[in-house]
Amino acid sequence: MPLQKHDEELEFLSHQSASHGGLSNTYACPKLSSAKIPKLSPECPRLEFGPPKGVAKKTKVVTVGIHGDEIAPLYALNELFQTGFLSNNWTRDHCLMYPFTGSNTNHLLDERIVFILGNPKAVSMNRRFVDVNLNRIFKPSLMSMETGDLFFKETHEMSRIQEIAMAIEECDEFLDLHSTSSPSPPFAIPGDSSRSRELAISLSVDFVIENLAKVIEGTTIDYANRLGKICCCVECGEHTNRKTIETAKELILQFISGDRTPRAKEVISCSSSQCLCKGFKFARDIHAFQRVDADELIATDDLGEIRCPFRDSYIIMPSSNHILGEEAWFWGVPKQ
Ligand SMILES: [Zn+2]
Repeated sequence: MPLQKHDEELEFLSHQSASHGGLSNTYACPKLSSAKIPKLSPECPRLEFGPPKGVAKKTKVVTVGIHGDEIAPLYALNELFQTGFLSNNWTRDHCLMYPFTGSNTNHLLDERIVFILGNPKAVSMNRRFVDVNLNRIFKPSLMSMETGDLFFKETHEMSRIQEIAMAIEECDEFLDLHSTSSPSPPFAIPGDSSRSRELAISLSVDFVIENLAKVIEGTTIDYANRLGKICCCVECGEHTNRKTIETAKELILQFISGDRTPRAKEVISCSSSQCLCKGFKFARDIHAFQRVDADELIATDDLGEIRCPFRDSYIIMPSSNHILGEEAWFWGVPKQ
């Protein structure tokens, strides 16, 4: 593609993004036309592709960096842009630029795709969050301007809620990408509907964990789920592992393609969580998705021994930074 034409097209993209609903002036990206390749960053935390709101037949939203230290999915997205993702097959009638070939991808021309960097300030500071965990405050009671708690209203994360919540409200399908502090296979947490589960199972992950979205309140997925959206959160792997970036790239492409071919290796049902109480200590080395059997000793706390109450279950998301009152881990049972 001639460079001049490419520049014109990106200028058009910039114009489209700035002039159609949902994108406030604060987040217009003035550098986009000269950058040649779109880039999501703390300076440009939102990019939109496709027909504008009201014209698009479907809107898909992808969030990355909801936690500021989880930048692998952000790298993945920008690497996809670098390799031409959403920058091929541009037409002036449809500003979606799609990476797929084949006749079954024409539907993508009618779709609007929104990418949001959840917590740009925390990403700049390489911290999980600035004031409070952004992925625990998507609760209507906290988000309300009238009844919301004053402490939360003044936090940095509350200033991000409105844009992300509005994008979720306006979308049809939502994918939220994260990574983990310790080694973990990729796993998906779908919303509580058959279509959300179908989305999760179509992703290249080792595990799909059903019912977990209901157990953790105030997450983006909890919020999307309450609104009846097709939604899924994915932990793509360890923050610093190169493979995590490759996994995230694959997941973004699979989500946007709309192809629901089953790809997940195993489905687990989350039954409950183990609260982290005073004096908590693991009794042995525990790794993510460790399989444990009935009555096996897992940990101890001031109340005594914590043994596995189930036959053949998984330890999901064992806590590495022990915070009193939070979950020590979640119990998962393989789905037959
Ligand atoms: Zn996270």
